[in-house]
Amino acid sequence: MLYYSLNRQSPKVSFKEATIKGQASDKGLYFPENIPVLPKMFFDNIGSYSKEEIAFNIIYPYIENEIPRNELEEIILEAINFDFPLVKINQNIFSLELFHGPTLAFKDVGARFMSRCLRYFVKEHDKHVTVLVATSGDTGGAVANGFYDVEGVTVVILYPSGKVSNIQELQLTTLGKNISALEVNGTFDDCQQLVKEAFADAGLNKELFLTSANSINIARWLPQQFYYFFAYQQWNDKDNPPVFCVPSGNFGNLCAGLLAHRSGLPVQHFVAACNANNAIPEYLSNGNFYPKKAVATLSNAMDVGNPSNFVRMLELFNREFGSLKNALTSYSISDPETIKTISDVHAETGYLLDPHGSVGYLSLKKYLQAHKKQKGIVLETAHPVKFHDVVEPIIDAQVPVPVSIKNLLGKEKKSQKINMDYNSLKEYLLS
Ligand SMILES: *Cc1c(COP(=O)(O)O)cnc(C)c1O
Repeated sequence: MLYYSLNRQSPKVSFKEATIKGQASDKGLYFPENIPVLPKMFFDNIGSYSKEEIAFNIIYPYIENEIPRNELEEIILEAINFDFPLVKINQNIFSLELFHGPTLAFKDVGARFMSRCLRYFVKEHDKHVTVLVATSGDTGGAVANGFYDVEGVTVVILYPSGKVSNIQELQLTTLGKNISALEVNGTFDDCQQLVKEAFADAGLNKELFLTSANSINIARWLPQQFYYFFAYQQWNDKDNPPVFCVPSGNFGNLCAGLLAHRSGLPVQHFVAACNANNAIPEYLSNGNFYPKKAVATLSNAMDVGNPSNFVRMLELFNREFGSLKNALTSYSISDPETIKTISDVHAETGYLLDPHGSVGYLSLKKYLQAHKKQKGIVLETAHPVKFHDVVEPIIDAQVPVPVSIKNLLGKEKKSQKINMDYNSLKEYLLS
C-alpha cells in the first residue's frame, strides 16, 4: 500500500515512511492510495474471530509485508491487550467502553500500535527518533505510556498549562526516562502551532529526526478502526446496523469509523458529537468551514478549533458535500447540557458517563429522537474517573479509583514551563 499527501505536492510513500515522517513534506496528511474492502464472509462470520484476528484482517492490507507477519501479530497483541465491552445503557443506546487500557482513554489503542510499529522500524535501521506531540489532555498520557522505555525513541509532549485534568497531567509528567513534558503557557491550538513550526523548521530537522504522534500519523489513525469492528461483533441486531456516535475533537476517531465503513462495516449513520467547539457542526449546516480559536469546555480532550482531520473527512467522501451530509450528522453540546446529561443518565440508569461520553450520549439521543427505528452506539472515549473533579459533584458520590490511577497519585510531577514562543521550544529540543 502506498500513501499520498492530501496536498498532492510530494511523492507517495510506504507505510514505513508515512509512519516515520508523520506528515508529508508538503505539510499534507497522508491518505491510503486505495481503501481495502473486506469480503462479505468476513462480516457474516465475525462472531467466530478473536479480536486479534479481526484486527489483523483490517490492518494487514495497509502494511502488507513491511512488517513481518509474526511481528505484526505481536504488535496487535500488545496494542489491544484489554477489553472493549459494549454495554447497554437503555433500550436504544449502548456504550462502547474504550477506556479499559492503561491510561483509561481510547487513544491507548492508536498510541500503543504506533509506538510498536516505530520500535520495529527504528530497530531495523538503527535510528534515533524524537516524537514531538501536542496534547489537549489524553494524547499525552497515551503516547507517554505507549512509548515509555521504547528503545531508540525520545518523546517530548506539549500540553496547555492548567487546561488538563490532574490525572491527565500526572499521566504525562511522571514517567521520566525517555519521556519529557513541556507545560505551555497557552491553549491546545498554541501547542499544536508550536509543533507545526518545529516540523517546518529545516535547520532543526537537520539536527533531529522528528516525527509526530498526533492522530494525523497513519499508524495511530488506522488501528482506531479496530474497535468499530469489535462493536459490530457484539451487536446483536445484525439486520439493523448501529448508528455510531463519536465524541470528536481532531476527528481522527470519527475518520477511522468512516474508513471502517468504506471497508464494508455495516453502519446505519454517523453522528459527530462536539462541545462548544463547533467548526464541523457549522460546516455541515451551511457548507462553510471556518477554523476557530479553541474554547475551553468540560470535555477538554475535544477542545479543538481547527480539526486536523477535516481534510481526511473530505477525502473519504471524494470532496462531495452532499454525500458527506448524507452519512454524517453533527451536534454541538453546551457545558450545562453535558452536566445535565451525566446527571440524568446516572439517575435513570445508574450508568456513569464522563464529560466526553456525555456529549456523545446527548448527540446520539437527539439523532435517535428524529430516527425512531434506529439504535446506536456511543463511543465512551474516557473513564469517568479521569474527570472526577467534574463528575463527582454532579452525582454527589465518589468514583471508585482504579489501581493504575491510585499508583499515579503519589508520584511527583516533572515538567518544564515554556511560553508560547517557538524559540523556547527549539532551544529545549536542541539542548
Ligand atoms: C482525544 C479524545 C477525543 C477526541 O478524539 P479525536 O480523534 O481527536 O476526535 C474524545 N474524547 C476523549 C476522551 C479523547 O481523549
